[in-house]
Amino acid sequence: MLCYVHLPFCDRICPYCDFAVEEFRRERVERYLRALRIELENARPQEAGTTSKLSAPKLSTLYFGGGTPSALGADQIAKLLADLFAHFGAEAGGIECTLEANPSRNVEDLARYREAGVTRLSIGVQSFDDAELHRLGRDHSGAQAEAFVHAARRAGHGNVSIDLIAGAPGQTPASFAATLERAIACAPDHVSVYALTIEAGTPYARWHEREPQAFPEDDAVADLLEQAHTTLTHAGYEHYEISNFARPGFECAHNRGYWRQRDCIALGMSASGYENGLRYRNVRDFDAYCTAIESGNSARDEVERLDFADRVGEAAMLALRTSEGIEDRDFCDRFGLDMRTVFSRPIKECRRAGLLEETRHGVRLTSRGRLLANAACAQFLHPSFLPAPAASGETTS
Ligand code: SF4
Repeated sequence: MLCYVHLPFCDRICPYCDFAVEEFRRERVERYLRALRIELENARPQEAGTTSKLSAPKLSTLYFGGGTPSALGADQIAKLLADLFAHFGAEAGGIECTLEANPSRNVEDLARYREAGVTRLSIGVQSFDDAELHRLGRDHSGAQAEAFVHAARRAGHGNVSIDLIAGAPGQTPASFAATLERAIACAPDHVSVYALTIEAGTPYARWHEREPQAFPEDDAVADLLEQAHTTLTHAGYEHYEISNFARPGFECAHNRGYWRQRDCIALGMSASGYENGLRYRNVRDFDAYCTAIESGNSARDEVERLDFADRVGEAAMLALRTSEGIEDRDFCDRFGLDMRTVFSRPIKECRRAGLLEETRHGVRLTSRGRLLANAACAQFLHPSFLPAPAASGETTS
């Protein structure tokens, strides 16, 4: 079982951000943490026909996303971690536990995060170019980001990831090359590179409407993503998922579990989870989330039961995001299906368009397919032909 915990607080809201975020205010943090604890306690499955609670499932990974989880100080993170570990019967340091962190925040707490059980730090660097950081509305500099990564190492963090953005306003191949160079010089174990998306309703959407020429065009962003692939793979990072690169052995186990449709319990506003074939998302609004939990109700807003065809389509789509792609053997083991039969039409069409290639073990996206991944993956979401579900070896936890 994976566990995702959403910690929505940020010191200020970046103008391109469309995540479920809240400006940091002490009393709201305290209310939210109380609600999280209640949600966690209620998450324990109940024994059929009784009021007794069963023991919580075994946890394999824990992920604090946001928001800026490191906006909470070490004491709050340590207390929350202690509650989570006690609830799931896990031990600090015994499982992968990721904390997203902002380089402008709480550098003095890095050692205590680790002592509390954080085993993986994911740092929102975004760029090492100060002008780009300023336009992104970030409150750190490139030098601060470098200092934060080095401080994390000194504090004993052995698994450090950094996030970068491709397609920031004013970004050029030369400025991106400099960012990649400084990223590699910091020697992170893992690098995520996300294309900037202009989300409706954000200040960036209004800026983009007024001044589209301030933003790199789609082709230019695709070139930046190719540049990231070339530079990072040349530096020894494996491009193991569309947006993710890792030194061997440092792939994110939590995300790998998600791409394998592992069960994931989700806690916090807007968090989305998957348990026993149910995909769900908690309500996105802060007050609605806290009020629902405080009144003894569930915070789940959207709940969808995935039928067999949904699970097969989603499994293919998620697998395509990874460097292994959809593997014949794995698909047969999990679903009792021959994936080449089930997906014969999208495979043919994607191959014809140069988006997909065959490997010895299955099919995977080409470099062009990675750039057009949404279009390619969408074709696999709804399998057109499915025999009646065979006895399947698929497990979901
Ligand atoms: S720090 Fe991250 S989560 Fe917070 S507002 Fe900026 S982009 Fe959004």
